[in-house]
Amino acid sequence: MTTKVKIVIVGAGMAGISAGCVLRENKQTDFLIIEKSRSVGGRMATRRIDEGKVDHGAQFFTARTARFQTAIEQWLARGLVKPWFGEHHARYMSPNGMNALAKALANELPVRLNTEISEIKEQDNGFLLTTTLGEKIYAAAVLVTAPAPQAKALLIRGQLPLAQPVIDQLDAIRFHPCHVGLFQLREAPPLPESGHLDNDLPEGVMRIVDHYQKGISAAHTVSVYMTGAWSLRHDDNTDRDILAEVSTIVAPYIDPRHVLSVQLKKWRYAEAIEFLRQPYMTVTAAQPLLIAGDAFLAASDKATHTRLESAFISGVMAGEALLNV
Ligand SMILES: Cc1cc2nc3c(=O)[nH]c(=O)nc-3n(C[C@H](O)[C@H](O)[C@H](O)COP(=O)(O)OP(=O)(O)OC[C@H]3O[C@@H](n4cnc5c(N)ncnc54)[C@H](O)[C@@H]3O)c2cc1C
Repeated sequence: MTTKVKIVIVGAGMAGISAGCVLRENKQTDFLIIEKSRSVGGRMATRRIDEGKVDHGAQFFTARTARFQTAIEQWLARGLVKPWFGEHHARYMSPNGMNALAKALANELPVRLNTEISEIKEQDNGFLLTTTLGEKIYAAAVLVTAPAPQAKALLIRGQLPLAQPVIDQLDAIRFHPCHVGLFQLREAPPLPESGHLDNDLPEGVMRIVDHYQKGISAAHTVSVYMTGAWSLRHDDNTDRDILAEVSTIVAPYIDPRHVLSVQLKKWRYAEAIEFLRQPYMTVTAAQPLLIAGDAFLAASDKATHTRLESAFISGVMAGEALLNV
């Protein structure tokens, strides 16, 4: 049996959720968001460690565009986010963890979890999506929000006739990985009052966060973010070797005698180091097949790096482009 729906959004990270919110706000109800994981959020990820909690993807977000600031004002009013630190440039966090924010935003959206799309083919003036379990979903329009290399793989597998400029643009997007050490400590690490430190750190370390001080955890759960370059150099090492090296490097901040447990999260596509200056990509226009996500920066976005905000704006603009389907 083939499920039929007007619009399918692949991926329930910030881009997929914000696109879904635009459709819903504009009374479009004939759509489905398909997410391969067991939760929405993508890189807005929070893990439980015993009685503690740890954000191990995005830690906070800032607002450079009026559009994102307006959304943040609404989330502030609903108690979904609060300012964390930063006097001139507020860093906002989610008091129950980043994943809770994603869940709240996606609460009223039609999301199918634990469902992975394996290919997208053209069929009957629309698209036939196949899941890894062989289920078929037919849609008149599709928005893919998986990181660009994964989005490209979906299209190639479905043998879609891709124009060379589309392939070239997708190939131009490059991501760095990120290795994150997750430590459970019996005592507070020596960090600023906010629990966040991202300067004067040992080589290879980008950021250290204590989630107790951040205010989301009942215990001292600490995430140590390694830089993209360090993560790339160590990507083929075993998890055990990576954790051993991270533990040695951060010993000035994380006393090995205070460590109760340690685990590793490896993000393959963490931050786009090469991105496109356009809000989304149109793969086929007659029946829309669009690609959006954090690696697409709108012209109005003057930032030089990708982030939660770029995913939000990209999703919103791709959602608006689908309103006339
Ligand atoms: C370690 C780390 C730290 C970060 N720190 C910050 C920060 O502090 N501040 C900030 O602003 N940003 C930060 N970011 C970046 C921010 O998290 C991302 O820019 C943003 O969350 C990306 O959203 P997205 O929707 O574009 O992609 P994603 O969140 O990656 O969402 C894509 C979704 O698609 C799903 N998917 C993929 N393929 C399929 C398929 N075939 N079928 C079904 N579903 C599929 C995935 O499971 C995922 O849920 C960080 C990212 C990482 C990894």
